Amino acid sequence: MADKTRQPPADTRRQVPSATVLLGDPRLGEALARLGRPLVKAAVATAQQAVREGRIGPGDAVHAALAALPARAVGLSPVHNATGVVLHTNLGRAPLSRAALEAMAAVGGYTDVELDLGTGRRAPRGRGAMAALREAVPAAEDVHVVNNGAAALALAAVTLAPGRDILLSRGEFVEIGDGFRIPELLASCGARIHEVGTTNRTRLSDYADAVGPDTGFILKVHPSNFTVSGFTQGVDAGELASLGLPVVVDIGSGLLTPDPVLPDEPDAATALRAGAALVTASGDKLLGGPQAGLVLGRATVVERMRRHPLARALRVDKFTLAALEATLRGPEPPVHAAVHMPLRQLRVRTLGLAEDVARHGLDAHAVPCEAVVGGGGAPGTVLPSCALSLPADLATPLRTGEPAVLGRVVRGRLLLDLRCVPQACDGEILAAVLRAAGL
Ligand SMILES: *Cc1c(COP(=O)(O)O)cnc(C)c1O
Repeated sequence: MADKTRQPPADTRRQVPSATVLLGDPRLGEALARLGRPLVKAAVATAQQAVREGRIGPGDAVHAALAALPARAVGLSPVHNATGVVLHTNLGRAPLSRAALEAMAAVGGYTDVELDLGTGRRAPRGRGAMAALREAVPAAEDVHVVNNGAAALALAAVTLAPGRDILLSRGEFVEIGDGFRIPELLASCGARIHEVGTTNRTRLSDYADAVGPDTGFILKVHPSNFTVSGFTQGVDAGELASLGLPVVVDIGSGLLTPDPVLPDEPDAATALRAGAALVTASGDKLLGGPQAGLVLGRATVVERMRRHPLARALRVDKFTLAALEATLRGPEPPVHAAVHMPLRQLRVRTLGLAEDVARHGLDAHAVPCEAVVGGGGAPGTVLPSCALSLPADLATPLRTGEPAVLGRVVRGRLLLDLRCVPQACDGEILAAVLRAAGL
């Protein structure tokens, strides 16, 4: 009788189904169409290796290949943001509204981005998005959109201050994150930064003393990720405009009009009405849209920027234009909903989820906590919030699960704040928690 437990290696190898046979299996046909050949081949190779090592039988190779397939043809995964940080830079900042996502999908093929279908002639690129932005901020004579907030500032510097001075208060020398410093960005554009005032106090006279024949413009940068408190003084855009030079205000977060929930956050309309020549902002912060740099201001200034050769290098694609227009014209973006979510509603959801989890014998309850805007917006503003409190050892399995659920660990407990999780996904969160706990 042959000893079945000790098969010679050559026989095992012969039993490994070939890639051609496996790729030809109809069960992998759908995956080939959806993911493409290289990714399916990699999954097939994983399955072949499992057969070769005797971990599975040859008959299970197709199943193993299906199990080894990636969910998408991209390494990025959707994540549930239960951190209580609304704009989380590591999580891609603003989640888009469904209207914005649909708009992006709609223009994915050929689209009339630079064509007037009525006349059959060339038309201005992004005219719909620009019109929506102009309507949202009537105080802006003209608008333009570039790749991101940093690009908007860079374009302002190369257009308005090449080889010239930009006056900037010492209290507004801001590092945004990941080593990105606004003064260094401006200097890299060929402008000179003229430091004005001190860290805590800068007066109008400091700016007035610094103005010279080489001054290109006066810049105000919103300290969007820190606060200076105590013996402080600053100068607002209106006062600066009285000096007769263009005032550029980098408001950062992209609030177009004042928001009573965020009283200290500067907005584009107010800065322009006060006399700013130009306002720059990000599209994917408090506006809740796609990554973009919004440029709003005086028609002559915006037109000069649009005509600058560098503008072409900072141009946005059709997806950005579509998502931005849908964000401006469509339903409330998720970021706005998260910032304005009534605490009572959040508490009811969290209590319900805590009950559902506890019913399975897990140590879970709803606790009060604090959420923040994050991502360069409303520093120091706390949003009273509510979280599902769980044993901290669930953090890793939840983070590495599918879908990934990210919370934060505070004093030995994992807190899941549902503020930024769509309510329709509460069931998914429950399932993920139970899976993470091995239930
Ligand atoms: C976020 C921010 C920027 C950079 O904007 P990006 O869109 O990230 O390039 C610049 N200035 C301020 C004040 C900001 O808050």
